[in-house]
Amino acid sequence: MRVFKCSFCGEEIQIGKGLTYFKIDGAPLHFCSSKCKKSLLVYKRKPRRVKWTKHYPRQASQNVKANPNPL
Ligand SMILES: [Zn+2]
Repeated sequence: MRVFKCSFCGEEIQIGKGLTYFKIDGAPLHFCSSKCKKSLLVYKRKPRRVKWTKHYPRQASQNVKANPNPL
């Protein structure tokens, strides 16, 4: 069986878990939880701007912590 990744948070979805949403053009969106589905479809959040997703830029945030006042 194929293991899908969540379209919002990027985590792998266990077999038998999660849900698949089909857009009007037939493109599938896989979600691990209703939290991810609501974040993308209802609240229209960007995965790169949400801290708990895998798409959030970790390296950049660590550099900001190391240099709190860059110039
Ligand atoms: Zn997810």
